[in-house]
Amino acid sequence: MEFELTEEQKQVKESVREFAEAEIAPHVMEWDESQHFPIELQPKLAELGLTGVLFPEAYGGAGMGYVEYATIIEELSRVDGSIGISVAAHNSLCSNHILTFGTEAQKARYLPKLATGECLGAWGLTEPEAGSDASGTQTMAVRDGDSYVLNGSKTFTTHGTYGDVFVLMAVTDRTKDNRGISAFIVEKGTPGLRAGKKENKLGCRASDTSEVILDNCRIPIGNLLGKEGEGFINCLEILDGGRISIAALAVGMAQGAFEAALRYSRQRKQFGQSISEFQAIQFKLADMATEIEAARLLTYRAAALKNQKKRSTKESSMAKLYASEMSVRVANEAIQIHGGYGYVKEYPVEKFYRDAKISTIGEGTSEIQRLVIARQLLRSTV
Ligand SMILES: Cc1cc2nc3c(=O)[nH]c(=O)nc-3n(C[C@H](O)[C@H](O)[C@H](O)COP(=O)(O)OP(=O)(O)OC[C@H]3O[C@@H](n4cnc5c(N)ncnc54)[C@H](O)[C@@H]3O)c2cc1C
Repeated sequence: MEFELTEEQKQVKESVREFAEAEIAPHVMEWDESQHFPIELQPKLAELGLTGVLFPEAYGGAGMGYVEYATIIEELSRVDGSIGISVAAHNSLCSNHILTFGTEAQKARYLPKLATGECLGAWGLTEPEAGSDASGTQTMAVRDGDSYVLNGSKTFTTHGTYGDVFVLMAVTDRTKDNRGISAFIVEKGTPGLRAGKKENKLGCRASDTSEVILDNCRIPIGNLLGKEGEGFINCLEILDGGRISIAALAVGMAQGAFEAALRYSRQRKQFGQSISEFQAIQFKLADMATEIEAARLLTYRAAALKNQKKRSTKESSMAKLYASEMSVRVANEAIQIHGGYGYVKEYPVEKFYRDAKISTIGEGTSEIQRLVIARQLLRSTV
């Protein structure tokens, strides 16, 4: 059992930290206030290999593993959760679905463009009437000769407006419940595909979250991703990896909030001393740091399992559940340590508090994570 990152992993962490401090930190509040999705950051993310973290070099990827991936998402989110969530949706949802279940032709066509940042990936499972119960998908894909014709809409799609390559789930056989759902690759510019409403969000406001509308959208049969009827099942495997990235997102935001609170507690004086001298504040800091470390270790454990190609359903959900709820608690305490100054936008903790909440919702709510974990526990022979 090894608890230390390797030298190479430390270098990755350091380089992403430097990048985030230099290229993201100066703009965080401006992007948040104007809800600006910084598409201009893509070439810089690509230069560092962050648009193709998990993909073999043969497809233009960086060929890294899940521990490096978690480290990267954590470091980006320590500065801005919006960038963390965007890099996560691109890598572990859209691109990874193509890498894991695509044909060689699909991988050759899409992965190099996604990995090198030429194209931005989006992944749409959620619909207005099908959130936690994704088996209630309404979007239809009807076979017509050499094409499928897609009709319906996806909601809350990260990169719904800016995405170039979409992996979208649709029903191919309504009689088969979730075994009748399939995945499709849809390219931007395909007639009938368009972005709908862009969401005005509580947090992660610089990430693009939009509706995706499919109106008689005709795509070649070659764009079926995986086998017909296996789209929903394949999504579950993709989410096992995706939830590691949401856990890392949560750890990163908590780390950012904690560091701000630690700094502030040393500077702020009341009753003639730094507030960090008060045991009440020290206990908060101790609890925050301990919980962050526990969440990070759960995240690394799930990442290590994924690297070994072992099933990580329970471990990914445990990491996501604990890290996300921890992140909200830590951001809350970070505001408390700042007092009134935590409630205003001059200090970063107000934004961490708003941003952290997404981690308890995206890629399955806390309630759904508990269901997944309980199901795995009850299946075990212990
Ligand atoms: C910023 C953002 C980005 C997102 N990005 C994407 C994306 O890129 N792609 C994508 O496909 N989706 C995306 N989502 C959607 C996200 O995954 C869903 O919002 C989430 O799965 C919950 O679905 P819902 O919002 O419909 O809530 P609902 O499913 O309606 O849930 C409402 C409440 O009921 C609870 N609940 C539901 N069922 C049960 C149950 N069986 N037992 C106990 N409690 C239950 C939930 O936990 C929740 O508290 C994103 C969402 C947001 C906000």
